[in-house]
Amino acid sequence: MTFHAKFSGYADPALHAAGLYIGGKWQSGSGITVLDPSTGNLLAEVADASIEDAQRAVDAAHAAAAGWRATPARQRSEILRSWYQLMTQHAEELATLIALENGKALVDARGEVAYAAEFFRWYAEEATRIPGEFRRTPSGSHNILVDHEPIGIAVLITPWNFPAAMATRKIGPALAAGCTVILKPASETPLTAYAMARLGEEAGVPPGVVNVLTTSNPGGMTNAMLADSRVRKLSFTGSTGVGRVLLAEAAKSVVSCSMELGGNAPFIVFDDADLEAALDGAMIAKMRNAGEACTAANRFYVQAGIHDAFVAGLTARMMSLKIGPGYDPETQCGPMITQNAVRKIDRLVSEALAAGARATTGGKPLTENGYFYPPTVLENVPVNASIAREEIFGPVAPIYKFESDDEVIRLANNTEYGLAAYIYSRDLKRAMTVGKRIETGMLGINRGLMSDPAAPFGGVKQSGLGREGGVTGILEFMEPKYYAVDY
Ligand code: NAP
Repeated sequence: MTFHAKFSGYADPALHAAGLYIGGKWQSGSGITVLDPSTGNLLAEVADASIEDAQRAVDAAHAAAAGWRATPARQRSEILRSWYQLMTQHAEELATLIALENGKALVDARGEVAYAAEFFRWYAEEATRIPGEFRRTPSGSHNILVDHEPIGIAVLITPWNFPAAMATRKIGPALAAGCTVILKPASETPLTAYAMARLGEEAGVPPGVVNVLTTSNPGGMTNAMLADSRVRKLSFTGSTGVGRVLLAEAAKSVVSCSMELGGNAPFIVFDDADLEAALDGAMIAKMRNAGEACTAANRFYVQAGIHDAFVAGLTARMMSLKIGPGYDPETQCGPMITQNAVRKIDRLVSEALAAGARATTGGKPLTENGYFYPPTVLENVPVNASIAREEIFGPVAPIYKFESDDEVIRLANNTEYGLAAYIYSRDLKRAMTVGKRIETGMLGINRGLMSDPAAPFGGVKQSGLGREGGVTGILEFMEPKYYAVDY
């Protein structure tokens, strides 16, 4: 890997890994360019894995599988715990690397590193608490014993928007369960994954237990791995479109799938909400990672009585944000990941404006270098505009006025997605009653941030299958085995 000289001081050179990581060996190479989204300039170049490399990674994961599975849970736990400690020790370098390659503001990058490391600590603890079951049949005449076994080799595919946390949210439970893994990070943000693999090596993860591959041929490489009967799990985080393709591919060899896909979160503000709290929550739910989050508030439904005050308050807050490169400590809103991302946001906003929406701030891409889109608030947005159906993945808050509870429930559920939703109300009974009728995997009530390693993260409808984190996250990497036992 080459690393742009200008940035060599930003992150600990010890974290600059050399390329593919297979069977505990580093294999340098080139072919995948990593750009600084704040300038479009080359940041680094990393290796481009071939299908043969992927097959070697499966071989390495297979060779390490029996040993890792047999490693006592306490020992697996301690390795994860030291990986957590190393990430914490190197938090500032990792955050800088994330800010550099992803573009998110340092404050968000620091938050991500803490969140990401926490998955290792959480699963270091869960590794020693894998549940089992003993019960008697209803007739009372037989015994049922249920054990949980590691599912086998897991392929982990992650997106660019949380380069550290989406990887640890999978590696943590997989390793805790006793599985070996092959991680394929997003091409835009591979540096963080390689840096974390370096730390994993230092933490004592045995060769072959974690393998990391970057590739310009994700489809071909993944299909080849899924066709290998030794691979028993696919855990994917990314768009619903790619998720559908992978589910179809995995069906060919009946591979178990966990899917963390796209979202279209409604953010509902009732008349009786605490306005300041709702605005604080809205800024977090919308602007964490400059809106590039699957849980990002995508549609603001605000009740008529509080609507105008909410629009004014949100506009003032969005206007006050400082835009700049993520690695500038003063930045509050960094660039988007690519020029294509800016184009998509521009299309959605332009279509909304043409349909009658009004921008109270922002509304056009910035023309300077880099992939910047300014914080934007849209009011009077038609409820059927394309911006209400598609993931914006950017710093744009479209606001829709509503009158009744039934109306907002219908609007909130009018989407193929069901990942996250938010409700602000001082009346908890109302919030819970409405919340029960919202089709979502996660609901924030008077909270703008719900991600927590100790909680089950995931969606319903086309937002995914399965849950990551929490007590059940480890079971995604295990198979129950039933023993019918008489004595
Ligand atoms: P994406 O385009 O679906 O890519 C995600 C990952 O899949 C990348 O590593 C990508 O590799 C890889 N990929 C692309 N095509 C593939 C194929 N045919 N076979 C195998 N792998 C393939 O998504 P993204 O743009 O990176 O991420 C944004 C999306 O992720 C949004 O929809 C967001 O909501 C979702 N997301 C969901 C969650 C959640 O927990 N539910 C969390 C974060 C993000 P390349 O980079 O090499 O193309």
